[in-house]
Amino acid sequence: MDFKLSEEHVMIQQAARDFARNECLPGIIERDEKQQFPLEQIMKLADLGFLGMMVSTDYGGAGLDTISYVLAMEEISKIDASVSVCMSVNNSLVCYGLEAFGTEKQKQQYLTPLAQGKKDGELYTGAFLLSEPEAGSDATSQRSTSSVKLAIPISPAILMCCKASPGNWLFIISFNSPSFNPNLVSSFAM
Ligand SMILES: Cc1cc2nc3c(=O)[nH]c(=O)nc-3n(C[C@H](O)[C@H](O)[C@H](O)COP(=O)(O)OP(=O)(O)OC[C@H]3O[C@@H](n4cnc5c(N)ncnc54)[C@H](O)[C@@H]3O)c2cc1C
Repeated sequence: MDFKLSEEHVMIQQAARDFARNECLPGIIERDEKQQFPLEQIMKLADLGFLGMMVSTDYGGAGLDTISYVLAMEEISKIDASVSVCMSVNNSLVCYGLEAFGTEKQKQQYLTPLAQGKKDGELYTGAFLLSEPEAGSDATSQRSTSSVKLAIPISPAILMCCKASPGNWLFIISFNSPSFNPNLVSSFAM
């Protein structure tokens, strides 16, 4: 097996490394202490095309492979875990799910701006709400159902995201079936 990175992989790795050092490192301790959402950094990630790395170019993504995504995540995570978790949630939990399971209408309406991280010049990203206090690792034990509108599972990461820019986030929310059948968990875009 050939483990050598391609020229394109090395370029993406270097771009992510430079971004982390130049854009994430300055002010990181202050942002962390003040619990500030890294808005400026996420806007720049959108410009780099890092918010929809594996999304098809048909839907505004970068159309890159998993290795490229992992290399970029690795470089950014080394420096700034807050930026990298926002990047991973948008790429993996939101864009991937929509591209793999969404309808064509949902893809046109939501996936395209999500993959670009912007809509009408404003930040547009996604959050995934699955975890509940009593159903963390064992997500199929969640108690919220789609029939109970306000019983929305919220994780600490999502609270952080909501606080940043409530008007421009798409929330993918997972609910168990009313019969609490672990095989019937559904996700909704809101
Ligand atoms: C950086 C980050 C971002 C996140 N973002 C989101 C998000 O955006 N949306 C979202 O919905 N969720 C998110 N989560 C996940 C969520 O917040 C929970 O942290 C996660 O699901 C784990 O649940 P828990 O903390 O209740 O731990 P628990 O599930 O209660 O686990 C506690 C401990 O018990 C161990 N354990 C659990 N089950 C077993 C078992 N069967 N056998 C042996 N040991 C076991 C675990 O390994 C762990 O050490 C995020 C988590 C992290 C770390």
